[in-house]
Amino acid sequence: MESRVLVLGAGFAGLELATTLSEALGEEAGVTLIDANDSFVFGYSKLDVMFGREPAEAVHLHYSEIDKPGVRFARERITAIDPENRTVETDAGTHTAEYLVIALGADYDAAATPGIELGRNEFYSVPGAEYLAGVVPSFAEGNAVIGVCGAPYKCPPAPSEACLLLHDQLVGSGTRSSCSITFVSPLGTPVPPSPATSEALLEAFADRDIEFLGGTRVAAIADGSVALDDGREIPCDLFLGVPKHRAPDVVVASGMTEDGYIPVDPRTLATGHPNVWACGDVATIGVPKAGVFAEGAARVVASAIVASVRSGSADDLYEGRGSCYIEFGDGRVGRVDVDFLGGPQPTGVFQPPSDALVAEKVEFGSSRRARWF
Ligand SMILES: Cc1cc2nc3c(=O)[nH]c(=O)nc-3n(C[C@H](O)[C@H](O)[C@H](O)COP(=O)(O)OP(=O)(O)OC[C@H]3O[C@@H](n4cnc5c(N)ncnc54)[C@H](O)[C@@H]3O)c2cc1C
Repeated sequence: MESRVLVLGAGFAGLELATTLSEALGEEAGVTLIDANDSFVFGYSKLDVMFGREPAEAVHLHYSEIDKPGVRFARERITAIDPENRTVETDAGTHTAEYLVIALGADYDAAATPGIELGRNEFYSVPGAEYLAGVVPSFAEGNAVIGVCGAPYKCPPAPSEACLLLHDQLVGSGTRSSCSITFVSPLGTPVPPSPATSEALLEAFADRDIEFLGGTRVAAIADGSVALDDGREIPCDLFLGVPKHRAPDVVVASGMTEDGYIPVDPRTLATGHPNVWACGDVATIGVPKAGVFAEGAARVVASAIVASVRSGSADDLYEGRGSCYIEFGDGRVGRVDVDFLGGPQPTGVFQPPSDALVAEKVEFGSSRRARWF
């Protein structure tokens, strides 16, 4: 099957790209958007599911609802990518395209950490969050460890949020005093580009008696304990994990990756192959793996494709800026505004929790839902 634009992956990047191309080019866009799943789930919804704030069935946004001029959704599993010829094999056949965009996100590497089991003791997949939603309420005594098995990982503030939300849940069930909470992170501080955000989170941990072990990662999980890569072993009765990440196998097999991800020009998202881009978590861009960065990068790729279709020149360059909302517990939400490519060092400005930010986070999700679906 021949398309003008082939978009691989319907996550933050793929959905924003398909939407922007449809807005700019209408029926002419000729986009085929491919994903193996039947629905999209916001990353933060996994925390809502794990802590029983939303049932799993409520957080799926179904691709069957996409109805945009010039965009066709295909539920297919991609099995091979040939960037040279802009050809893709799926379980349903062969696709070729004038423009190819790889937006397949980051996958999880369970084999890298003995004891981590996808869908069981990690909250970074929907099945994992759903399974843990049934486990967390029965945890009433002992040591809880929120542990990261490797960096880079999606949404660096998410495990901090998990600690604060677990604290709330244990307070709610009257069991907090018989439980400890420890957060193991390979990052030296909770949000390295923003010292003020890190300080606010460390203060929130201290107020709640949550122990932060930074600069070390979880190396193995056993019955009753967790081994850290610095040789320490800590007691653990409930493990809420973040698995090590890697690019999906099909991306690695395409030969396009270096150090695990696809290298791109950080300003244009171009790969070395003509008319082939990679954006979002699957690429090495020099920004964190987060939805806001993925969608920002997708807009730059869309603008390059629109310019090419119209024989113009693209002058939009990716700026590497984004805002991430952070759940501080007690229903409070803060925000960090980060800039990764604007200066010699990444910077981040902290916006303390407020009612306005609670509303802003709701709007963040609902505006994208309305725009993409
Ligand atoms: C707990 C948690 C909280 C988070 N909170 C936030 C937040 O508050 N703000 C924020 O900005 N980000 C957040 N994130 C991160 C965010 O979800 C990701 O960074 C974002 O989804 C990346 O977008 P993407 O388009 O690159 O990849 P994805 O959204 O992961 O999309 C990739 C798509 O590719 C598809 N795919 C992969 N392989 C194949 C294949 N072989 N064939 C067909 N399809 C395939 C997948 O099904 C998927 O739909 C959070 C993540 C987690 C886990």
